[in-house]
Amino acid sequence: MESIKLKARAKINLGLDVLGKRPDGYHEVRMIMQTIEIYDHLHITKIPQNEIQLFSNLSFLPVNENNLIYKAAKLLKDECGYKGGVKISLHKFIPVAAGLAGGSSDAAATLFGLNRLFHLDLTAKELMELGVKLGADVPYCLMRGTALAEGIGEKLTKLAPIPDCCIIVAKPPVNVSTRQVYESLDIDGVTSRPDIDALLNAIEAQDIMGIAANMGNVLESVTIPRYPVIAAIKQDMLDHGAVNAMMSGSGPTVFGIFKDEHTARECQAYLKEKGDARQVYITENFQGGR
Ligand code: ATP
Repeated sequence: MESIKLKARAKINLGLDVLGKRPDGYHEVRMIMQTIEIYDHLHITKIPQNEIQLFSNLSFLPVNENNLIYKAAKLLKDECGYKGGVKISLHKFIPVAAGLAGGSSDAAATLFGLNRLFHLDLTAKELMELGVKLGADVPYCLMRGTALAEGIGEKLTKLAPIPDCCIIVAKPPVNVSTRQVYESLDIDGVTSRPDIDALLNAIEAQDIMGIAANMGNVLESVTIPRYPVIAAIKQDMLDHGAVNAMMSGSGPTVFGIFKDEHTARECQAYLKEKGDARQVYITENFQGGR
């Protein structure tokens, strides 16, 4: 095998609670993660030169050691010393700095792809242990599907896939720094927290209305006051048939859950026409597996 093509899928958080801050500065979280069918394409090809060459369709993205794909390829090279180099072409579709873990998913796909391409025989657990060095969401992006993420996000429990549903993802044209959002969170001042256990029960019962009813994200308390457009998009989704709508991760992307595609299409058309979000996609949950 000389090359491999991969899909690096985005995630949303159905629930995101922050429990506290650790002495090392990381936050303890309790999150319900869900992979969605919005993805970047990665094409990795072996090259004889001992280099990591990265190309992207987006000119504003770094293609050097600041890109998580480059970091993942370098980490695996340093740890496993595979021979030769790689050319990696990234076709980015996941909105950037959006709360959808696009970079983390690219890093996870790179680790997964290079492990296959160079027959490194690392187990899923070993890949995840490497992945967490790149970012707290990378182990989950290797696992994919529906999962409970605890610790800093790296302690994962696989859950039953949620029932199939239609999801609108809408990103307003503002970029949010995940680090800044976490740093600005006043944990003791949070008045409304998601009931993660109720979400777990609803997932186990395959109850999409119960899942929707218990969605919640404490980081909204930081990002929404800064960008009220997020609240406006949420309200628009609710007014146009979403069973619930919420910000994903640290934002600013809003997602809405819809019971049928027709309602979702009408809501998508409304949101596009209104223009608060420039990127408005209809997608669905991805059940997981590689
Ligand atoms: P998270 O939900 O994990 O916080 P995000 O969706 O908010 O992630 P990303 O799209 O992963 O944010 O990117 C955040 C920053 O990381 C961007 O400003 C970008 O310059 C940098 N970056 C590095 N590598 C990548 C990559 N492969 N794809 C996207 N962004 C990348």
